[in-house]
Amino acid sequence: MANSNIKELFFRDRMLHLRLPWLRGRSFALSEKSMRRVVLALTALFLVVQAAALLTLLLQNRGQHLSDENQLTFLRAQQVAQNLRIAHLQQPGLLPSQSLLDAVVPEEALELGRSFMLVDSLGHVVASVPRDGSSDGKAIADILGSKFVTDVPVNAPEMAPTTLVNGDEAFMTSLDLGDMNASLLSLQKKADVLSVWRARVTQISMLGAVTLLVLMMLAGAFHWQVAKAADADHLLALATTRMDKALEGGECGLWDWNLYGGEIFWSQSMYDILGLSPKSNYLTFAEVTHRIHPEDAKIDVLTDSLLKGESKVFDQEFRMRHVQGHWVWLRARAALAPGKKPDEPHLVGVVFDITRQKKLDVMNREAEVRLKDAVENISEAFVLWDTDSKLVLCNSKYQQFHSLPAAVCEPGTPYKIVTEAAKEPLVRQFVPGQADDVSGARSMEVQFADGRWLHINERRTKDGGFVSVGTDITALKQQEEHLLLSERNLMITVRDLQKERQLAEEQSQRLAELADKYNSEKTRAEAANRSKSEFLANMSHELRTPLNAIIGFSEIMGQQMFGPLGSTKYGEYASDIRRSGQFLLDVINDILDMSKIEAGKIELEMEAVNPVAVVEDVLRLVGPRAAEGKITLQPKLEKSKPFLGDRRALKQVFINLISNAIKFTPEGGTVEISATRVGDMQRFEIVDNGIGIPQRDLEKLGRPFEQVENQFTKTKGGSGLGLAISKSLVQLHGGTLSISSKVGKGTTVVVDLPTKPA
Ligand code: ADP
Repeated sequence: MANSNIKELFFRDRMLHLRLPWLRGRSFALSEKSMRRVVLALTALFLVVQAAALLTLLLQNRGQHLSDENQLTFLRAQQVAQNLRIAHLQQPGLLPSQSLLDAVVPEEALELGRSFMLVDSLGHVVASVPRDGSSDGKAIADILGSKFVTDVPVNAPEMAPTTLVNGDEAFMTSLDLGDMNASLLSLQKKADVLSVWRARVTQISMLGAVTLLVLMMLAGAFHWQVAKAADADHLLALATTRMDKALEGGECGLWDWNLYGGEIFWSQSMYDILGLSPKSNYLTFAEVTHRIHPEDAKIDVLTDSLLKGESKVFDQEFRMRHVQGHWVWLRARAALAPGKKPDEPHLVGVVFDITRQKKLDVMNREAEVRLKDAVENISEAFVLWDTDSKLVLCNSKYQQFHSLPAAVCEPGTPYKIVTEAAKEPLVRQFVPGQADDVSGARSMEVQFADGRWLHINERRTKDGGFVSVGTDITALKQQEEHLLLSERNLMITVRDLQKERQLAEEQSQRLAELADKYNSEKTRAEAANRSKSEFLANMSHELRTPLNAIIGFSEIMGQQMFGPLGSTKYGEYASDIRRSGQFLLDVINDILDMSKIEAGKIELEMEAVNPVAVVEDVLRLVGPRAAEGKITLQPKLEKSKPFLGDRRALKQVFINLISNAIKFTPEGGTVEISATRVGDMQRFEIVDNGIGIPQRDLEKLGRPFEQVENQFTKTKGGSGLGLAISKSLVQLHGGTLSISSKVGKGTTVVVDLPTKPA
């Protein structure tokens, strides 16, 4: 229990440590409640014993009193009887009478209801004192009853008890008066005998009652006092429990340091804070100080200054080591309080566990640093004012824009001072619609002397301050200006474009007309081409027949098959006719091929072509011509798989290309023919080291009838169709033909043919 120690502390003094002899000196503790009961029981016992003793005493006293009084009455009776005898002796013959009796009974003998009667020998009452006229002359037996006779013997040595006629108990004695012939009866009622005793008993009872009352009052007071004390204890214990709970909940502890004795009282919550299990309520100063962090202020130094009066309060933050090893931040506040003796002061106070607060402080500081860092690093100028229009936070951009000295940018500087120190902008214009916002928010654009523009947004914060964020919009403004300029230029351009468009429309009109014309011209040209091709085909056919006759007859003539020509000149002429006829036939064949290609009438006959074989066939055909021109043919043929192609057409292509290479290479030159497989293509290269072709002519070559003007073309002739036919045939195969050349160095023709059909 958290409060058990404190409870015990408060209850300890209320435990009775009894040392009882019959327990051989052993002492035991008696609880307050038991003690209360014991006291009450003892009081009651005392009262009972007292009452019993008193009763016994009174009863004893009653007997004694009865005996004493009876003896006294007896003596009084003896005295009266003696007086009567003396009177009779002095006056013999004196008869018993009232006067005689009155004379002999002393006054004090009548005390306590005693009465005397003179009874004559006949048993009649003669006189009575105190005087009772009603009994005079009556027989004593009638007055006192029959029991009197048996109860009261004559001249008995003491008073005899009897019961009167009316039932009252009484003591009587009967004394014989001898010569007087009478007897003296003395009577005293028991009630009268006991009247004094009763009065005394009443007194004693009163005294006893008062004593009882006082004792009961004392016992009651004690009981009440003790009950109150118990209530107070209970309340104290309750208050202590609550206080402990409150301390526990509030994460704080109580401590009371006896500066003189050195011991320190700690509340349970203090132990809880440090994770300690309490050994006792008191700790030594050393036990406490060795848990305090060595870097923190020494407590005894602080208390010294407190005792010397140098400081008024003890308010210190320090760390104490938790049982688990970590440090717990505590804040102690205390004041000097009087101790049991004036020179033994106590330092009494509370200790708060502020570890969480310390952590929060660190987090707050970090958050503040982060916030400041973030505000510093934003691209906008930022400033925050509090409710009293004092500066809370601003960044360096704000400072730069307004050219503020650093001293003015300290937190707490009034708005007025900052605005006075700030440079007044050249232009200030509120953004329309927002200038007088109900929430106090407004936006404006300002321009400073250095030309920079700021867009400033001001907003009210919840606590009544306001925040202002300024964005540099100089670039935006410049862009705006540029845009305005561009817009103006654009308008001009649009106008120009409109004019251009008008022109273009007119031109397109003209172009449409031209296109119409072109179409009709094209149709006409195509018709013309068609008729040209037809004409060429017809003409070739018509020319070939006579040419064949010319060639055949000139050959017969040259060989002089039907006898000599007569002159050698005729032989030469016949040979010239045959060569010219052959050339003409070649040209006509070429024209025919070309026109067929152009008319799209050539159809390739595709078959597996061995690249090496096709080139070798061609080399055999052109071999004599190369030998004639003293040209070395160098074949470099790589064996590879056959590919699909038109053997006849390909042979024609290679005859044309190799013939050209031989034709345009001077004597002693070489023509290299290679066949290689490059990826999916079959490549043929014809490389000569002949005269070459100028760059400007390379582009037009391949078109029908295009020739390069040089001495070879002049001397060796040619139709200008070879390349065109070759290129067209290669293209019909899906391949390409390309020519590269350098004047004086030679020419390279590359033919690439696909090995797989497209
Ligand atoms: P031609 O019957 O005139 O040879 P081609 O179409 O075969 O017609 O060639 C056209 C022209 O290209 C030729 O007249 C020649 O000037 C030039 N030419 C072709 N092959 C070669 C080559 N290997 N070296 C130099 N010039 C060439």
